[in-house]
Amino acid sequence: MTEVSAARKSLSKVYGAFIDNEFQPVSGSTFPAVAAASGEHLADIARCGSSEIDAAVASAKAAFAMWKTRVPEERAECLNKLADAIEREAPRLTTIDTLDIGRGLWETGIDHAIAMQQYRYFAAAALTHEGFGRPIPNGYMLAKREPYGVCGQIIPWNVPAIMTAFKIAPAVAAGNTVVLKPDENASLSTLELGRLIAEIFPPGVINIVPGLGEEVGAALTAHPDVTKLAFTGSSEVGRIVSQAGANRLVPVSLELGGKSPNIVFPDVDPADIDAIVDNVTFASMYCNGQSCLAGTRLFLHDAIYDDFMQRLTASMKRIRVADPTSQGPLLGCLVSETQGRRVQSYIDIGKKDALLITGGNRVEVAGCDAGWFFEPTVFETTNDTRIAQEEIFGPVLSVIRWSDYEKMIHDANNVRYGLASGIYTTNLKAAWETADRLQAGNVWINNYFNLAAGSPFGGFKESGIGSEFCHETLNMYTHLKAITVQTQMNPPWFSQ
Ligand code: NAD
Repeated sequence: MTEVSAARKSLSKVYGAFIDNEFQPVSGSTFPAVAAASGEHLADIARCGSSEIDAAVASAKAAFAMWKTRVPEERAECLNKLADAIEREAPRLTTIDTLDIGRGLWETGIDHAIAMQQYRYFAAAALTHEGFGRPIPNGYMLAKREPYGVCGQIIPWNVPAIMTAFKIAPAVAAGNTVVLKPDENASLSTLELGRLIAEIFPPGVINIVPGLGEEVGAALTAHPDVTKLAFTGSSEVGRIVSQAGANRLVPVSLELGGKSPNIVFPDVDPADIDAIVDNVTFASMYCNGQSCLAGTRLFLHDAIYDDFMQRLTASMKRIRVADPTSQGPLLGCLVSETQGRRVQSYIDIGKKDALLITGGNRVEVAGCDAGWFFEPTVFETTNDTRIAQEEIFGPVLSVIRWSDYEKMIHDANNVRYGLASGIYTTNLKAAWETADRLQAGNVWINNYFNLAAGSPFGGFKESGIGSEFCHETLNMYTHLKAITVQTQMNPPWFSQ
């Protein structure tokens, strides 16, 4: 049996919510998990609502009383065991994601490698997440970090393994318990993770409740016993989640959209140009462009424009658009018809408002009749067009020619988002000044997507609030409590 058919066969016919370390029986309605490329029906998933959220939150609340007392070493041990279990199951989980969302196996494999790294990173970070203290007259002040309690977490579909790890790992490392809602387009690998969680974590520490955003997502954000919200997704839904948090005055962390600038200076080493072209291609086409971090606005200097564009066009044309279950680097399909139509509409807008350099067509792939495959598409445009300003979330790159540094910096920042950015130059002063002036949570110099574990990952402006991926994230999942101790009473104020 091939890995693909083995993974396919390993799926349950139907998935209920994962609560208290058990999959709940499904009594109400379901929604289908459909393979993005082939259209094959993979499984049915419970369309959960407020009753499942009530049960999951009750389980997480009961578990919190116990989990918060576990020493960091015990939490770390569970996280490390989860990483080890994912490593053993990685080929199967990777294949499930590829079937579910249509991204190539090489990419979903990278997702799981990053996910494992996250669980291990936060296992280690838990051991050094300390409070602080200082002497006071006749005593000492101790500031300790305490977990919030039940965290309601909501994730998107583009990189389900990474999103799940980004949410679960820091929350439970800090002593919280979790109710996680996966995306309706990509619930399978997260639900399958439930089987591994049940073997490692005490019941109730991690609960997974699938369903539709406006139903189960809304019920989760409104639940009175959820004391911290964490959301990754679009800025539009981020606003709704933020309002739900504001209504109940609970903290909300948000990881939202992006339209990131990738800037090439004229002084790059000619010997590096092919490598930079490859990096720019990867930055825009990795994940089929369905990445919040994608470098979708290329600011290319006039002095090297023509040569660079020739090489970039050739690089884009070399990309294999193929069945996502085949091996090696490739561009698979978009996650759904909705996403396909959205990308098609932006390509149509680009064809009217900008100059099409390469791509721009939908592609048929044998055996993948349901898939929305597109050629890697590059437009030459200016920063004020819709394709340069709006998040397309598809394989579409907007190239903007620059020669005036001040105008380029203004344009690079002139967008509602501020998630990531890239700079390619051999000029240290230019690199540092530009990094300083870019309004983005991540600036990568001479290598885009340079996601080192422990490096803060979060957005400026409408790209979000808070940072994941780093030690600081544990602070987002805890609040400070100051305890003072005195060895002697102060002299009386009123009774003398
Ligand atoms: P989305 O906002 O439509 O959905 C994200 C999640 O929110 C899903 O689980 C969905 O079911 C849920 N949801 C929808 N409506 C809801 C509601 N009313 N209440 C509560 N939950 C609700 O986003 P998407 O289309 O799935 O993902 C694409 C977006 O996510 C892009 O904008 C992308 O940039 C962003 N994203 C950001 C990051 C990051 O870390 N910054 C990472 C990945 C994706």
